[in-house]
Amino acid sequence: MSSYTGNIFMVVAPSGAGKSSLVNALLEKDRDVTLSISCTTRAPRSGEKADEHYRFVTVDEFMALRDNDGLLEWAEVHGNYYGTPRDGIQSSIEEGRDVLLEIDWQGARQIRRHFPEAVGIFILPPSIEALESRLRGRGQDEPHVIAKRLLAAGSEMSHASECQYVIINQEFSVALAQLAQIVSATRLRYVTQAARNADLFSQLGISKTPV
Ligand code: 5GP
Repeated sequence: MSSYTGNIFMVVAPSGAGKSSLVNALLEKDRDVTLSISCTTRAPRSGEKADEHYRFVTVDEFMALRDNDGLLEWAEVHGNYYGTPRDGIQSSIEEGRDVLLEIDWQGARQIRRHFPEAVGIFILPPSIEALESRLRGRGQDEPHVIAKRLLAAGSEMSHASECQYVIINQEFSVALAQLAQIVSATRLRYVTQAARNADLFSQLGISKTPV
């Protein structure tokens, strides 16, 4: 049986699939999900706030964190380093809080090694054309950055099969409802119910470990 009662949700997607908008809308709707704030060496985009969207760090700071075991996982994505701080996640899930990680496939693999019950959710665009137009339409990045991300999108999507769930983000409200359903269903998993209702399971003489 797990020693923690919180769930870990990993939301993975190619850049431009609408992942952040979906995640932000879920966090608005469901106050019991806490977002893990990643560290990154990339420069902030306009409108991004330090410690709200990312913890923006220098390469030296990132390497120091990594070398001091401060990161649960890390990866190089689009030429920048990204990582999930260890602080917070372990304590959150031990206290029964659900944590959501917005990470790439490399990070998801590492998290799964630490937490085999972590739930992977892959967000797909409804078509390659929609993905391209979303990447161009965002207007926040240089053309060479967009070209690089388009190439990277194919490689990210080739790892979709490593996630248990897939959401096709055609209609935002439908995709959001589906994300919320995955969160709700996960909270009803045997392992989570047994951990969160240990006394009841004991009283009823029910095993706390799924077969
Ligand atoms: P962006 O720069 O567009 O915010 O993110 C680029 C990519 O880095 C996205 O695929 C995003 O999911 C990924 N990413 C963001 N934070 C982390 C993290 O902490 N770890 C890993 N492995 N990937 C991350």
